[in-house]
Amino acid sequence: MSTCQTKKKLVYINVAIAVPIDQSYTYQVPEAFHNACRTGVRVMVPFGRQTLSGYCLETTTEVNFDKIKSILDVLDETPLFYPDILPLFKWMAQYYCCPIGQVVKSCLPDGLSVITSNTAQITESGKAMIESNKISPMEQQVLKYLDKGRQPVKNIRKHMKNKLPISCIRRLERLAYIQIEKRDIRGSAAPKYIQYIRPQRKDEMDVLTKRQKELLLVIEQAGEISAPDLKKLGFSQQLLKKLEEKSYIELFEKEFYRDPFGETIPPDTSMPIPTPHQAEAIQAIDKQIGQGFQVFLLHGVTGSGKTEIYMRITDAALAKSLTALILVPEIALITQVERQFRARFGDCVAVLHSRLSNGERFDQWMRIIRKQASIVIGARSAVFAPLENIGVIIVDEEHDASYKQSTQFRYNGRDVATMRGKMTNSVVVLGSATPSVQNYYHGTQHKYKILKLPHRIHNRPMPNIQIVDLKQNLGMRGIRRIITPELEYSLKKTLDNKQQSLLFLNRRGFATLPVCAQCGETMMCKNCDIAMIFHKNMGAYKCHYCGFTRSHNTLCPNCASGTLKNLGYGTQRLEQDINALFPDARVARMDQDTTQKKGRMIQILKDLRDQQIDILVGTQMIVKGHDFPNITMVGIICADLSLNFPDFRSGELTYQLLAQVSGRAGRGESPGHVILQTYNPNHFIIQTAKKQNYEDFFNYEIQFRKNLNYPPYARLIQLTIAGVDPDHTAVYASHVGQFCQKVKATSQAYTHAIEILGPVIAPVSRLANRFRWHILLKSSYIKALHQFLYYVKQAVDTHLDDKSIQLYTDVDPVIMT
Ligand code: ADP
Ligand code: ZN
Ligand code: ZN
Repeated sequence: MSTCQTKKKLVYINVAIAVPIDQSYTYQVPEAFHNACRTGVRVMVPFGRQTLSGYCLETTTEVNFDKIKSILDVLDETPLFYPDILPLFKWMAQYYCCPIGQVVKSCLPDGLSVITSNTAQITESGKAMIESNKISPMEQQVLKYLDKGRQPVKNIRKHMKNKLPISCIRRLERLAYIQIEKRDIRGSAAPKYIQYIRPQRKDEMDVLTKRQKELLLVIEQAGEISAPDLKKLGFSQQLLKKLEEKSYIELFEKEFYRDPFGETIPPDTSMPIPTPHQAEAIQAIDKQIGQGFQVFLLHGVTGSGKTEIYMRITDAALAKSLTALILVPEIALITQVERQFRARFGDCVAVLHSRLSNGERFDQWMRIIRKQASIVIGARSAVFAPLENIGVIIVDEEHDASYKQSTQFRYNGRDVATMRGKMTNSVVVLGSATPSVQNYYHGTQHKYKILKLPHRIHNRPMPNIQIVDLKQNLGMRGIRRIITPELEYSLKKTLDNKQQSLLFLNRRGFATLPVCAQCGETMMCKNCDIAMIFHKNMGAYKCHYCGFTRSHNTLCPNCASGTLKNLGYGTQRLEQDINALFPDARVARMDQDTTQKKGRMIQILKDLRDQQIDILVGTQMIVKGHDFPNITMVGIICADLSLNFPDFRSGELTYQLLAQVSGRAGRGESPGHVILQTYNPNHFIIQTAKKQNYEDFFNYEIQFRKNLNYPPYARLIQLTIAGVDPDHTAVYASHVGQFCQKVKATSQAYTHAIEILGPVIAPVSRLANRFRWHILLKSSYIKALHQFLYYVKQAVDTHLDDKSIQLYTDVDPVIMT
C-alpha cells in the first residue's frame, strides 16, 4: 500500500459567536473554505436572520441536527489564537459566567477590522486573467473593477453588494493577481529606527583627508556608533556619505525604543550581579521552569530588585527554548519593568497595553502569532497573548486592583494567569512587596512557594514612617484641619533641603465617609464590620453588603456623641491650600482632572524628574510607576479614607497603599521620611504599616476573614441589577432576590452552603443614568455557588425576561461599587 493517508476532511466546526448566548454553534464548512478554516480564524455565519462574525474553535464530527447551516466566509488568513488556549477560554466562560463568544471577543485585540481599510491594486498577471475562465465570475468581476485603479477593499465589497467573501480577496492576493497594501496606522509608539555606522574596509587609507581619517578612527574605536552621536562629535552627514561611497564604512539601521518622555531606551550593557537573596530565588524558579506547573510568590520589599529576577528567569526560559509572559499593572505610562525588559531583550519583546492604538496592538498581536517575539509584556489583557510553549508567566505587583476588569467580561488577569500556567504546565511567578491576602494564604498552605527578598538593594534603609494623630486638629478651621504641624514642618524642611515631596490623598470611589469628629471612629455595620455609606436621597446610612440601615441622626456608636461628619476633601482644595501655605514652592497636582488631556501627565512627570516641581499633590496616580530619587518626603493626608472604605478588603487595600506610597520615598541616596496622618493612630493596620511588617498584618487580617467568612475562606459572586426607572429596578431586584431564596430552598446542600446578602442598593446607587442594586452570594464551595447561580439565572431568564433591566454577574468581585 502507499504511505499516503486519506486526509480527514474538515466538515463541521464549532463557532463561538459574540452574542450573549452560552453555547457555541456547529456549522458546515463548504469545500472552498476547507484550507482556510482553522482554529482561531474568524468566520461569517448565518445566525437567525442575521449574518454575524464568530470564532472558529475546533472541528467536530458530531452533529445532531438535520439542517445544518454553512459558513459564509473566512475572514482571517492567519489564525488569531492557537488551539492550546481553548481550554482556558472554556474555563473562563464557565468560571466567570460569561458567554463563550464574548469571552473570545474580549480576549482578542481590538482593531481586527483593519483588513477592510486596506487598499488593493491589480497586478500584471491579474490583468491577464480578467477574461480567463480559470477564475470564478466573481473573481473576474473584482479584477475588472480594479482594472480602473487602486481601490479600498471596502469599496470592492460595496461594489459587489457586500456579497464578496474576504477569502476571495485573499485568494486573489495569494495567486498574485492583486496586491494588498496595508494602510499605515502606526502611532507615536511605533518603533524608531536610528542610523548606525560600523567600519568596513581598512586599506588605502592614505587617499583620505585628515578629517576623514579622524572619523574612521572614532568609528573604529567604537565598533559601531549612531549617526546622532557622530553629529554631536562634529562629523557631518556629508563626510559619512563620502566614506560610505568608498566602502570604508557601512551604514545600517537599528531599532530603538522610546520611553514616554520620547527618549530612546539604550540597550542594557551590564547586568548587575544578583545578591544572595536574588540568586536563591532565581535558582529555585529556574530549576522548576520546564518541569511543570508551580506557583511562586515572590515577596520582596520595595526596591529589593524583583525586576532583575524577572529578567533572569525570562532568560532562563528562553535558554530552554520556551517563551515568557510578563504582566504589569495597567498604568497611564510605561512601567519601569517594561523599560528594563526593552533595554535588555530588545527586539524579541512584544508589548500589549491600552496605550497602543488599535493598529499597533494588532501588529503586536500578529508578531506574537508569527513567533517574531518570544517575550510578551503587557497589562491585564496580555494574559491572552497568543504565545506557545510558555515557560514562565510573571505577574508583577500581583496585588494590584487593575488586574481586575470590572466591565463587560469581568475577569481577574492575575487569576487567569495562574490558570493559564496550570493548563500549559508552566511556572507562574507572582511578585509583590505587599502580596494579596488570597495568594499569601495559598503560600502559607503550601499550595504556592513563597520566596523572600527582605532587604532593599545596597541595603538602603526602608523609609521612616511617622504617625500623626489628626484628632489634634479637630478644633481647627480650613487648612489647619488637614495639615498637622508635623506635616507642615516636614514639608518645609524638605523644601529647604531642595528635595521633593509627594502629598497623597486617597479619593477613590466614594465622596464621603461617616467619621465621628470626637473619637475618630468610622460608623460600621453591626453585621458586616464594613463602613456604612450615607445616602442623601434616603437620609440614612446603609451597609451595602447586608442592607442594614441607621438614620441620619444616629449618635456615634463608640462615644455616643452627635458629631458624625461626612469626611470629604478633594485634591483641588489641597493644592490651593498648599499653595497658600508655601507661596514660594512650585506645587503641581496630578489626578483625573489634571491628566485628562493627552500628554499632560507626561509633562507633570517630566517636570517632577527635572525637579521643576517641589511638591506634587495627587491621588493613587502618583503612587505607581516611576522612580524619582530626589523624592525624600511623602505625606499621607488621611489614611482613614481607605481604611474605612466600605469593602471587606479595606484593611488589605490600606496596608498595600501605605506600603506602596511609602516605597516612593528614599529610592535614591537620601533616606525617605513618611508622615502618615490618621484619626485612628492605634489601628492595627496603621501600626503594622508603620513597622512594615507584612506577616503581622497578614496574621491579623486572615483572622478577620476567617471570623466573618470572607475570602479566601469563602467565595463571592455579586449580581448587579441596573435599570433606568428607580422603582421598577427596585421591584425587579427584589424578585431576583426571591428567586435566589427559592432556589436555595430547593436543596439541603444550598441551604447549608449558600448565603444570600441583599438585594441592597449599591454604594454607587446611580451610574450612567441607571439605578443599581446588588445581591451578594457567598459560599465556601465554589462549585455549589456556580451551580446555584446557574439555576438562579435560568429562573430569571424564564420568568423575569425584561430588556430594560441589565443583570451582571461578577465572580470574585474586587471593589464592590
Ligand atoms: P523592586 O521592583 O523590588 O521595587 P527594583 O527592581 O526596582 O526593585 O530594583 C531597585 C533598584 O536596584 C533598581 O535600580 C535595580 O536596577 C537595582 N538592582 C537590582 N538588582 C541589583 C543587584 N543585584 N545589584 C545592584 N543593583 C541592583
Ligand atoms: Zn465617637
Ligand atoms: Zn452589613
